[in-house]
Amino acid sequence: MMEGADFLGRHLAATTPHPLGERVVGANGCWIELEGGDRLFDMVSGIGVSALGHGHPGVRAAIHGQVDQHLHVMVYGEYAQAAQDAAASALVETLQDPLDTVYFVNSGAEAIEGAIKLARRATRRNGLVAMEGAYHGGTTGALALSEPSERREVFEPLMPGVEHVAVEDFEALQKIGAQTAAVFAETVQGDAGVVPLSSAYLQALRSRCDQTGALLVLDEIQCGLGRTGRTHAFERAGIVPDILCLGKALGGGLPIGAFVASRELMAQLGHSPKLGHVTSFGGHPVVTAASAAFLAALKLEVDLGWVERVGADWSARLRAHPAVVEVRSAGLMIGVDLASAEHVNRLVEAARRRNLLIFWFLSRPIGFRLSPPLNADASELEEAFVQLLLSLDELG
Ligand code: PLP
Repeated sequence: MMEGADFLGRHLAATTPHPLGERVVGANGCWIELEGGDRLFDMVSGIGVSALGHGHPGVRAAIHGQVDQHLHVMVYGEYAQAAQDAAASALVETLQDPLDTVYFVNSGAEAIEGAIKLARRATRRNGLVAMEGAYHGGTTGALALSEPSERREVFEPLMPGVEHVAVEDFEALQKIGAQTAAVFAETVQGDAGVVPLSSAYLQALRSRCDQTGALLVLDEIQCGLGRTGRTHAFERAGIVPDILCLGKALGGGLPIGAFVASRELMAQLGHSPKLGHVTSFGGHPVVTAASAAFLAALKLEVDLGWVERVGADWSARLRAHPAVVEVRSAGLMIGVDLASAEHVNRLVEAARRRNLLIFWFLSRPIGFRLSPPLNADASELEEAFVQLLLSLDELG
């Protein structure tokens, strides 16, 4: 870790006082190569972005192919573009009815913004219910849905109309009512420290939304696309949201977001007003080519049962370690609490000395996260995990 922003140079914005402070010269598979010759085993995958490791050959080939064919030609929705079609079809193939229509945007936060607009437009209501501990992104709408409030307060006033409820508080679901346009929830809360919502709670959310006419929006930007051992984390609860938000891994390493709904629902953005949501770069041909290749590789190369088994095995072994206070997990999305934030800082440094990259959460200083590539070689992954256990041993 380095002090201050100096290392980023004079012209780049810095938002963390403690950047990792090393210069990347390459990244392949599970490994990040640093200037000076060190390489780090990536236990974080860029917070879930590089779910198939760095520089997946199929994704790279798709990017090269599209770059040679054409780059951006027009704002979203005017021309038919093969890469967009391929990515949307591959994504819809993984989903159930009625989720059959994809709107591609450029980031997770933008997918949330699109979902907010779609829900308000379709229901003609303005109330929004979101979860305590949520993180939905850094734009002002997504931030208004996020919690805890100290992350928001200095930026207020943000988008009005949001009420937060505690996760797993079934009584509080009565706050979803006739004025609620939508309920937003991460199926597994990410930056709160990996908090999976129970199937019973997700089912209760679904039925309260059905009763009141509110739309259920699930944010699987971090927890989706294989991370939890299911293609979509909501599958485990046997429910389907009205709007699904995706991002991160979906671009195979390029910037993307998407919100997915039924054709009928999505049609609301096409009239009154027409062009109800527009984007210059959303569905960019290079990005959607990468996304289609990512989705093809996810289907062929990731054994979701294995993801679930390794996640359960790691969680059990971590729970047995004396330095560990608590473990929460869903597949290979794992949050581990230690005795204090200071212990976490020491662990990140101990792991770095063993060429292992682990990372903090946004809102849980006593925890650290694990989200390694889902297609990692089993023995290489085990070796990295052993290095993590040895790093924990060093905490004494
Ligand atoms: N939603 C969740 C659950 C996230 O974890 C994130 C990013 O960490 C976002 C939304 C925002 O995505 P992006 O950073 O691509 O805007």
